[in-house]
Amino acid sequence: MKIIIIPGDGIGPETMAVTTQVLESASAKFNLGLVLEQEIAGHSSLEKYGSTVTSILLEKVKAANGLMLGPMATYDFKDESKGEINPSKFFRKELDLFANIRPSRTYPKVPTCVKPFDLAVVRENTEGFYADRNIESGGSEMLITPDVVISLRRITRQCCERIAKAAFELAMTRKKHITIVHKANVLKIGDGMFIEICKAIGQNYPQVQIDDFIVDAMMAHVVRAPERFDTIVTTNMFGDILSDLTAELSGSLGLGGSLNAGEQYAMGQAAHGSAPDIAGKDIANPFSLVLSAAMLLNWHGQKTTQVQFTDASKAIEKCVGLLIDSGEVTRDIGGNLGTKAVGDSFVRHFSKG
Ligand code: NAD
Repeated sequence: MKIIIIPGDGIGPETMAVTTQVLESASAKFNLGLVLEQEIAGHSSLEKYGSTVTSILLEKVKAANGLMLGPMATYDFKDESKGEINPSKFFRKELDLFANIRPSRTYPKVPTCVKPFDLAVVRENTEGFYADRNIESGGSEMLITPDVVISLRRITRQCCERIAKAAFELAMTRKKHITIVHKANVLKIGDGMFIEICKAIGQNYPQVQIDDFIVDAMMAHVVRAPERFDTIVTTNMFGDILSDLTAELSGSLGLGGSLNAGEQYAMGQAAHGSAPDIAGKDIANPFSLVLSAAMLLNWHGQKTTQVQFTDASKAIEKCVGLLIDSGEVTRDIGGNLGTKAVGDSFVRHFSKG
């Protein structure tokens, strides 16, 4: 399995260094034969090539079996005509990575303000309220007058169908409970269609219990009782916001793994951003990216029916749990280790276990 590794901006190089260590250990232990090829995107690519991403990079990613994309300073990239392309958008659109799976769970030793929970947000990734990806040419935010902006949201039957199917398939491997999150009281046509399609797809999965919540109320329900939820399916922007909340409720945004998957390709990518406030300080939690790498191995294992990849994925998750139990973690989840030291601890435990 060849994986393209892109460290990214901010805390990306620190957390990706740990993730690379983890992948190398997994490759050795499970005989995966991983080939990890380092590439660049984001600020470093903008400096070197005049663009945050390049078509040559895209071809390399397409020729590989997976991509690990570090967090990107997307807020800095404002003008596509100057090469400032959002790399997340670029890969999600170009590789048609329509399903963003973001699991969150509590760990007994990580302090939280909620009861134990284990859920997954399944977020549509290629349209919705994202101005940079829902129109073929140009963005979908318009300056109507100097004081008036219109931002368009795109919802299509095809994208609703495929994200609903992905969510029900995932729910079948979990507790068989789907919650549809929407704003159909206001976005009556778009989210009305989203609900209708999710329920129609759900008829093919009679074992799965279905309910739905309006997104604003959902925030309150998730904060009050996240243990009520199992698999949550929603549109792009709502899923982005909700999944940061669920990751933080589990103890830290630094714990939120995330996989962007399509029919052909997949990209592991932390749920969080480039965290410039803590970059370069050796305090970032690497587990979000590490768990995303585990998800990528699992995806590859399922796709190619190679059990050693799914085994390696489970072993990485288990070792993260073990480090958390033993307190060998970064300070955001109650430990006092630096990012690099967490990587070293991981390798020590992983090679023993
Ligand atoms: P952020 O997710 O980078 O950080 C939010 C808060 O969480 C910060 O206080 C940060 O220190 C903390 N945090 C994040 N990751 C952490 C980790 N691994 N360990 C410990 N603490 C962690 O969000 P932001 O500050 O709003 O955005 C910073 C930049 O990242 C912006 O340019 C934004 O556009 C970009 N961004 C990129 C992605 C992506 O690449 N997928 C996602 C979200 C934001």
